[in-house]
Amino acid sequence: MRGILVERLGPPEVMQLRDLPVPQPGPGEVRLKVEAVGINFADVLAVAGEYLTRTRVPYTPGMEFAGVVDMLGEGVTGVQVGQRVAALGGRGSLAQYAVCPAAGLVPVPENLNAAQAAAFPVSYFTAYHGLKTLGRGVAGEWVLVQAAAGALGTASIQLAKALGMHVVAMASTEEKLEIARGLGADVTLLQDDPDRVQKVRDAAGGKGVPLLLEVVGGKRFQESLDMAAPLGRIIVIGNASREQANLRPFELMKRNLTVTGLWLTPLMTDREATREAAEVLTRLVASGQVTPQVGPTYALADSPRAFQDILDRKTTGKVIIEP
Ligand code: NDP
Repeated sequence: MRGILVERLGPPEVMQLRDLPVPQPGPGEVRLKVEAVGINFADVLAVAGEYLTRTRVPYTPGMEFAGVVDMLGEGVTGVQVGQRVAALGGRGSLAQYAVCPAAGLVPVPENLNAAQAAAFPVSYFTAYHGLKTLGRGVAGEWVLVQAAAGALGTASIQLAKALGMHVVAMASTEEKLEIARGLGADVTLLQDDPDRVQKVRDAAGGKGVPLLLEVVGGKRFQESLDMAAPLGRIIVIGNASREQANLRPFELMKRNLTVTGLWLTPLMTDREATREAAEVLTRLVASGQVTPQVGPTYALADSPRAFQDILDRKTTGKVIIEP
């Protein structure tokens, strides 16, 4: 089968298109014929060797995908060959076939096509946990969403609006802010607006936002603290700047701020949190209240370009690769 192989870590061009063996599902795993792969910023970091866990080479990237169940490993029940599913926590999906633990399969509402299904699990479960499980956001509250036109950003705006929250969206260009407005963002601000801290405070009643989804990090992190209201919750989800941030705990005391880290991978093993998120998300997707935003779509051979476009901030929505 055709697939991408990474033999040494580095920039996107280390990804090579190769002829690879078709993987076999182990006990408790299923094999899927891959239809669409959702590319996350995490994939870009993993290829660069900068992800939260160590990337061991050689490997085939791709952790989020949609496809048709093709073979069941030993002991797998409740899944049918021929069923379309989305998969999270699988491995090597930048290929024609990939395996995933049966526990990582996410049922796909019938109204989603393969690309939308591949755009669903990571961004929407992360958005839910940021807004609700850890963020404890409630209807009527303001939330600030950074990188608002990206995969997580568009999911966060839609979900926050569906949950009755008010959204301040930030992004790097006017075109991106237009996307955020189209999804219902109440206030939009350029990431480099010189008055951004004051404008965020003003938007949310003068004191700042009670909830902020932080994905940029680096020197922007201090600004996030400044944009938060007293008693505000800052949920640290990403570090797209790839720079270190300084956190002085004293700053948190002064305004009773809470900073909470969020990493989806370990949270998915929390069965109660996952069940609650899945119930809400499946209902909202099936009713059309939220729709995964599919961004640019690339062929497998163009994977390096897809990864580079994410790094260059050229993409909006979820980048999809079709094998
Ligand atoms: P996106 O589709 O949002 O793409 C990344 C975006 O980050 C860019 O479009 C850009 O938006 C923004 N950005 C800001 N600064 C930079 C920079 N210096 N270089 C490149 N991009 C920058 O990706 P994802 O939705 O996959 O991820 C968004 C963030 O959320 C990432 O930080 C990712 O690691 C994190 N994440 C974390 C998860 C977790 O479990 N903790 C799960 C999912 C995502 P703009 O141009 O508007 O600034």
